[in-house]
Amino acid sequence: MDHKTLEHLQHLDAAHHLHPFNDNAALAAKGTRILTRGEGCYVWDAEGHKLLDAFAGLWCVNIGYGRAELGDAAATQMRTLAYYNSFFQCTTEPTIRLAAEIAELTPGDLNHAFFTNSGSEANDTILRLVRHFWAVQDQPRKNIFIGRHDGYHGTTMAGASLGGMKGMHKQGGLPIPDIHHIDPPYPFGDAGDMDPEEYGLLAARRLEDKILELGPERVAAFIGEPIMGAIGVYIPPRSYWPEIERICRKYDVLLVADEVICGFGRTGEWFGSQYFGFQPDVMTIAKGITSGYIPLGAAIFNDRVAGVLAAQGGELAHGCTYSGHPVCAAVALENLRILRDERVVEHARVDIAPYLATRWAELGEHRLVGEARIAGLMGALELVPDKRRRGEYFPGRGKVGALCRDIALRHGLILRATYDAMLLSPPLVITRLQVDELFDKAWKALDECAQALGK
Ligand code: PMP
Repeated sequence: MDHKTLEHLQHLDAAHHLHPFNDNAALAAKGTRILTRGEGCYVWDAEGHKLLDAFAGLWCVNIGYGRAELGDAAATQMRTLAYYNSFFQCTTEPTIRLAAEIAELTPGDLNHAFFTNSGSEANDTILRLVRHFWAVQDQPRKNIFIGRHDGYHGTTMAGASLGGMKGMHKQGGLPIPDIHHIDPPYPFGDAGDMDPEEYGLLAARRLEDKILELGPERVAAFIGEPIMGAIGVYIPPRSYWPEIERICRKYDVLLVADEVICGFGRTGEWFGSQYFGFQPDVMTIAKGITSGYIPLGAAIFNDRVAGVLAAQGGELAHGCTYSGHPVCAAVALENLRILRDERVVEHARVDIAPYLATRWAELGEHRLVGEARIAGLMGALELVPDKRRRGEYFPGRGKVGALCRDIALRHGLILRATYDAMLLSPPLVITRLQVDELFDKAWKALDECAQALGK
């Protein structure tokens, strides 16, 4: 793109486009980066820079960029039947096939999909339908959801309330009533010298304490991301999720796994709940279901929940115009075909995850890195002032992370920064050679960042 066009577009963007999760005044002054093309693990910006996208867009481009088959699937469906609703005794073939395929792929008896446009809407859906599930069984007071401080479940009123991001709660009067939070499992921040598995049990028992405080007859469900993504890839110890599951069963509290990030291969397993070995009653998905090529989310219910809703729930007073959109479903089916036929998840688990773990651990040796944690293809580097002092952060948390992110970008590498943690989530199709490139660029960025800080 020529310089004049670029400037013009940036000007229009600053004048007319409000960007999510941004200080829009500051962004307008800086000018946005305009991305123009993607191929495999790389994207190109309007100035022609080639960037290794180690964040897969926003944790979502699992099969990588530029797969024409998905475009073809969308075009074919658009030409045949661009849209029909699922409301009036109707649906379409791709929608049916996708629901059946999700039932097949998800663990246990998660056999019933309710389609949405996004992960946020999927979490809104579960809040309403799970409360309805208890209400129609004469337990209308069993309506409290427990989430985690610093969890992320989306940006709608319900999603942001279920999540525990304080900054989000401050805008718009959240959380909505009857949503409570417990502290997350964050070993780097608060396990100290404790044995990790013991810490995992302790962190899980915060749920039991909260259920007992509120009364089990009031608690409808617990919701959690198998690995907390947005806050900084918090990877719980192995003991955490089985203990959460035990507690949920004991008090008849539904267990909801938000698999919006972890689903569709991110951990090297199809779902994060399989990585940790627990069985959710309800699951929410989005992102990787279409590898981000088109918006789609879903709430998946097990036989028990769906059975009660069907038998006693009456008419579901819930739905979106685009619930089960045939074009999105056709794209999702093609994406799932690629993930399966090209053995993308196996490639991630068997070939890439172990290699990436080794190279990530090497980055952990850098003087700026306090911890390098990784699970499958999801990782974080905690940047700290003193490597030997665990759990201590730079003053004004977030400045160093942003600095390192910007330096990495100048080296042609896209990483995300949350506070001072550098987050990793590359396309699952990344190769070992590209992992080496990622390592070299990240190391250079860390070096330059350390120098800038006088370290
Ligand atoms: N849950 C989790 C765990 C997420 O990471 C996200 C988005 N990053 C969402 C829900 C919300 O999904 P969406 O942005 O599609 O609404």
